[in-house]
Amino acid sequence: MDEQQLLPKELSERYLKRATWIINISLLVFHVSFAVFFWFNSAEYMFLYNGFSIVVYLCSFLLLKKWNYENSERYIITIFVEMYFFMILAIVYLGWEFGFQNYCIAFTSSFLFVDFYQNTKSNSKAKKIIFSLFNVLLYIFLYMESQLYAPVYQIDSVIAIRVLYIMNSLAGFGFFIMFLLIYYSAIYHMKSALLQTAERDPLTGLYNRRTMLQILNHRLSGEGTGTYAIAMFDVDFFKSVNDTYGHDAGDKVLKYLSKHFKTLSETNHDFWISRWGGEEFLALYRYDGDSAAVISLFEQLRKDIESNKISYEEAEIPITITIGLTFVTEEKEVKEWIKDADALLYLGKKNGRNRVMV
Ligand code: GH3
Ligand code: MG
Ligand code: MG
Repeated sequence: MDEQQLLPKELSERYLKRATWIINISLLVFHVSFAVFFWFNSAEYMFLYNGFSIVVYLCSFLLLKKWNYENSERYIITIFVEMYFFMILAIVYLGWEFGFQNYCIAFTSSFLFVDFYQNTKSNSKAKKIIFSLFNVLLYIFLYMESQLYAPVYQIDSVIAIRVLYIMNSLAGFGFFIMFLLIYYSAIYHMKSALLQTAERDPLTGLYNRRTMLQILNHRLSGEGTGTYAIAMFDVDFFKSVNDTYGHDAGDKVLKYLSKHFKTLSETNHDFWISRWGGEEFLALYRYDGDSAAVISLFEQLRKDIESNKISYEEAEIPITITIGLTFVTEEKEVKEWIKDADALLYLGKKNGRNRVMV
């Protein structure tokens, strides 16, 4: 399957774009607060590094504004480099108690997420495992370092330690959760797109023949309950629509009819409609035993279509359909019922078209 179909460009851009703006603003706010904190606690080098980070995030807005694939890559690399340096420096200079190590959690999830977007074709795990392990090892290494060497700046304020620990945990877990949620919606959209492709006809969006057969088999097998009618529709003289107005006009007619049929299935939970083939549609209808009402429903549908001309460019295309309508009255194979509806449709065609044949 084409990658483009799985992750529509605008979808992937929407998520990535939204995520990067949120990330950039949050990181800018964080670094400004850190700069203030380091200034008041005389941690000069950390203050200087934060000044540099602030410039980086301000400049990053330019990259985000001119959104394209290359800039998004540049942006992601910039952030990773900046954040790794920041975390390592903060732990070496201030120690373990401030909770800067919590960023390792965000790094792992953000890397997996970025990899997911950039590469939907291969499912190679090596890179992902190596990067995730790197974060775990870095975490342990920084822990050992902080235990073996005293921090450069000794900040003893308990309040400062607690506030920073909470801020850093919020950021670490916050990004982790954010990436998980975006990842989840991306998977959800991919799933719907795949289902759409598998179950529906691409031109009209109606069920395809395969799905309709499943519905029929399920409904008429005794698992589904009720009395059912099956109707086969066929557009009259459709070939001449194509010949007179062109193939695109023919497609438009099919889309128009499908939209009309779809509203029926949307207002009526007991109505299933499919594109059975070219200009043929197969419908299943569950009714309450009043077959006369079913006939008048399909009669009304036929009349509605007859009375609405379909505009195409300058032209107004008159369309009629013939319907073969059969009532499911006994145990019989699904394909037998379809044959019956088809035979009635054929009779309707022979008897002058634009009619419901029962
Ligand atoms: P009848 O009243 O007997 O049904 O006549 P008809 O012209 O509708 O029947 P026929 O089966 O001869 O022609 C069906 C035409 O439908 C032929 C085919 O080119 C056209 N068709 C099938 N699928 C499509 C489609 O997806 N788009 C368009 N534009 N035409 C299609
Ligand atoms: Mg036909
Ligand atoms: Mg036809």
